[in-house]
Amino acid sequence: MSDQIINHVVIVGGGTAGWLTAANLAKQFNSKLPNSIQVTLVESPDIPTIGVGEGTWPTMRKTLAKIGISETTFMRKCNASLKQATKFVNWKETPKNDVNNHYYHLFTSIFDPSEFNLAPYWNLNNSSEKLSYADSVSVQGQVCELGLAPKTMLNKEFEGVQNYAYHLDAGLFTDLLREHATENLGVNLISANVTDVDLDADGYIDTISTDTAGVVQGGFYVDCTGFKSLLLGEALKVPFKSIKDTLLTDHAITIQVPYEDENSPVSSCTISTAQEAGWTWDIALANRRGTGYVYSSEHTTHERAEQVLRDYIGPQAANLDAKLIKMNVGYREKFWHKNCLAIGLSAAFVEPLEASAIFLIEAASNMLSELLPQNRKSMHIVEKKFNSSFTYRWQKTIDFIKMHYFLSNRNEQFWLDNKNLATVPDSLLESLERWRYQPLTNYDFDNVYEPFPLESYQYVLYGMGFEQDLSFNHNAYANNDTAIMHFNKVQEIAKHLKAQLPLNRELLKKIQQYG
Ligand code: FAD
Repeated sequence: MSDQIINHVVIVGGGTAGWLTAANLAKQFNSKLPNSIQVTLVESPDIPTIGVGEGTWPTMRKTLAKIGISETTFMRKCNASLKQATKFVNWKETPKNDVNNHYYHLFTSIFDPSEFNLAPYWNLNNSSEKLSYADSVSVQGQVCELGLAPKTMLNKEFEGVQNYAYHLDAGLFTDLLREHATENLGVNLISANVTDVDLDADGYIDTISTDTAGVVQGGFYVDCTGFKSLLLGEALKVPFKSIKDTLLTDHAITIQVPYEDENSPVSSCTISTAQEAGWTWDIALANRRGTGYVYSSEHTTHERAEQVLRDYIGPQAANLDAKLIKMNVGYREKFWHKNCLAIGLSAAFVEPLEASAIFLIEAASNMLSELLPQNRKSMHIVEKKFNSSFTYRWQKTIDFIKMHYFLSNRNEQFWLDNKNLATVPDSLLESLERWRYQPLTNYDFDNVYEPFPLESYQYVLYGMGFEQDLSFNHNAYANNDTAIMHFNKVQEIAKHLKAQLPLNRELLKKIQQYG
């Protein structure tokens, strides 16, 4: 058996994880051609997908291009819009009525900080009139404030004046991926419920049984069954490691909000607003907003949470339905075990603050598509490699998300509990301790699998008001002329782009009409 060639990959689950993985693998394997590795996806006709997951990372442009879906088709069919950042509102306490109580985690800086790091110069500037860190090093915050798009109709598909990702309708996205994967990439679809998972004598998955389509056999299985984790968790019994003691949120309540009319502005960033026991998201699609409140049920009731979300939306919320979602926050001790890999919610979930889950689905399916072993002989080597890579990625993601909470000075119990040192990973505390007296450098981000780069940390740290004392080594930052030139250049570019870029809403209308 260990010599037997793997020529059939069976994916169970037809949510975003299942269909993205199916499309990615089938494209990579050229499954449409005879004698290629076959990809089959078994999807339940009865069990709904999670139905959320509407914010993405810029990597989605590369993924769509790779699997061969045009940007125009994608944007039209998924009511997608363009996303340039996350805007964090009220994450710090400031004097009442401070309309400027926000900061941006942007996708772009104008100058690469690993070549010339502007952060120490921004830090050492004590002028009361200095701009926020984000506005000093990038134009994208200003562009978002004006509701402008990151590109014009003159840009090619997947290319922009600014770096960007998408907001998308999760249900429509799986519909599009299913259609594309089955019609164009050669993925076989079985619509049935998996009822049993049978293991062989070595503990590998041998077959899966379904209620209406008989028994299905593959050489390799991908578990995309969502929080259920039917293959990796239930059948192979790989334990789940909860991180509820670190990231305290465990529920979300969601409401979809229609626009008042077809000309309503469409924000080109995700808006994340801190609330008494968590935070709300506001994701603008072309045809509606998706909103939700992520909260800790130990710090509020579900009824109160729904009220907070309705208050956030305003009078319009009165006639809209809310949906409650329970979140299992944590990750499996292993993602890959024997001949099974879990991708998506079946593998891990660490709350959606930085919209990292779909990015990690893209990353996992990319890695599988290149490393699928030809037989079981080298399976354990790839298994080890994959598990070490993804344990690292998830742990770094947890650190980064926790950092937002830990740096907040809000004083409701939820926020105070988040600052309790017992809830904070040592790795994060160590980094923060060092960064109090040193700028962040590439040495902090030297792993090839780093999910959040140096710039992301800079935006969040300085946006949250993290105080850095660089005085002991201030003479190391004597290149003032270059720094001033760079800061001025950013403002010049901002002026130019503000005049050049269309409103996000206008661009979306044009894409819907002309492509
Ligand atoms: P699901 O969507 O749950 O799909 C599971 C599939 O398995 C379904 O098709 C189901 O029918 C099938 N299935 C289950 N049991 C069986 C069975 N016995 N037989 C056959 N099929 C079966 N991610 C982001 O990147 N950005 C975000 O903004 C974001 N926001 C989120 C907000 C919330 C509140 C939550 C909870 C998650 C969010 N995520 C976000 C995560 C994102 O939603 C998921 O990672 C993504 O949707 C993938 O889900 P999935 O495919 O793993 O699971």
